[in-house]
Amino acid sequence: MVKKRVDVLVLNSNETITLDSPEIENGLGIVDNGGVAIDKGKIVLAASTDLLERKFRAGRTINAEDEIILPGLVDPHTHLVFAGARDAEFQLRIAGVSYMEILRKGGGIIETVNRTRQASQESLFQFGKQRLDTCLESGSTTVEIKSGYGLRLDDELKILRTVQRLGNDHPCNIVPTFMGAHAVPPGETSSEYVSSVIKEMLPRVAQAGLAEFCDVFCEQGVFDSIESERILRKAAKLGLKPKIHADQFTGCGGAEVANKLHATSADHLIHSSAKQFEQMTKTGVIPVLLPSSSHNLLAGENADARGMLGMGLPVALGTDFSPSNWMLGQLSVAALASRELRMNAPEIIRGITINAARALGLEKRVGSLHRGKQADLVTLRAPNHRWVGYTYGERVVDNVLIEGEPVVKDGKRIP
Ligand SMILES: [Zn+2]
Repeated sequence: MVKKRVDVLVLNSNETITLDSPEIENGLGIVDNGGVAIDKGKIVLAASTDLLERKFRAGRTINAEDEIILPGLVDPHTHLVFAGARDAEFQLRIAGVSYMEILRKGGGIIETVNRTRQASQESLFQFGKQRLDTCLESGSTTVEIKSGYGLRLDDELKILRTVQRLGNDHPCNIVPTFMGAHAVPPGETSSEYVSSVIKEMLPRVAQAGLAEFCDVFCEQGVFDSIESERILRKAAKLGLKPKIHADQFTGCGGAEVANKLHATSADHLIHSSAKQFEQMTKTGVIPVLLPSSSHNLLAGENADARGMLGMGLPVALGTDFSPSNWMLGQLSVAALASRELRMNAPEIIRGITINAARALGLEKRVGSLHRGKQADLVTLRAPNHRWVGYTYGERVVDNVLIEGEPVVKDGKRIP
């Protein structure tokens, strides 16, 4: 038989987790001793190493012996572009001061807003690039990034242009979200600010094509459900799909707004009701859970992942990387999801791949090793898939490929 030539073959893994056959192996579609054939940046076939070697010859071969292969990880929720850090505030939280109390006193988000307004676009770009390199070295190939540390037109545009430049210059697939409604700027009332988001910012962001999604921090003392709905309705009219920070600190109607507007995702969901989860099975809203955020707030509160999974909801997981939650790796999130949310390995793997892709409307392009999809994958130094959520993720990533191109080798970004 004449062997067909492909660009890349990844071979000899212990398990290749394709997420391509919902019926078998807990929906993971595991191929034992498998690999992946890649050509022109797309998946050609995920199958046993034997079969791949019989069918194909390759320009480049990557040996994944003693490893498992997963689709490139997807992080559907980050606030990655900002200046400064809030390590001092974290010490206050350790001493018992609450996040919302810090925010009311002009710390928290507002402190980062001040730092970010002063920063140049170039320095924001450099911060973003370093952080995205860490995402890559942690296995994430698709990363959503929200604005929201500008809180006035020019600075929100500065952040979104930085995100756009990162999308052009960095190998990660970047999904931009406008989140002007992240906090009320000092000296303004929420109703004044909401009207500037609706009348001034959203039209400019949409016109410049700088965001795919619009997100709102729907929370007591920030934006209420009526304001959130108004912003997201206007965004939808302008072609920006809705997302929402829902019910993180209090149950204040966020999940309800998500269901009403058929938002792409509703994120956090710690204080949402079972009735709203039930509703999500009909509206198609993807629940995004962020256990590292709860963990870093030291609040000890978590979303009811088991309840949602029991209803058959496709639970997604994200880092919620921000200055108050300095965690960039989805494998670290996996470690928390198992311990804090009691999610098992197959649930977690779906949560950081295909379900996270759904939370970004990208499930047809990434999130599984399905033929024709973008060839984004990661090889992990692990004997089997149960190690996802079992390890804390240190030095587990070996290779990362995006569109068939190696971007990380031996856990290090290829310059
Ligand atoms: Zn967030």
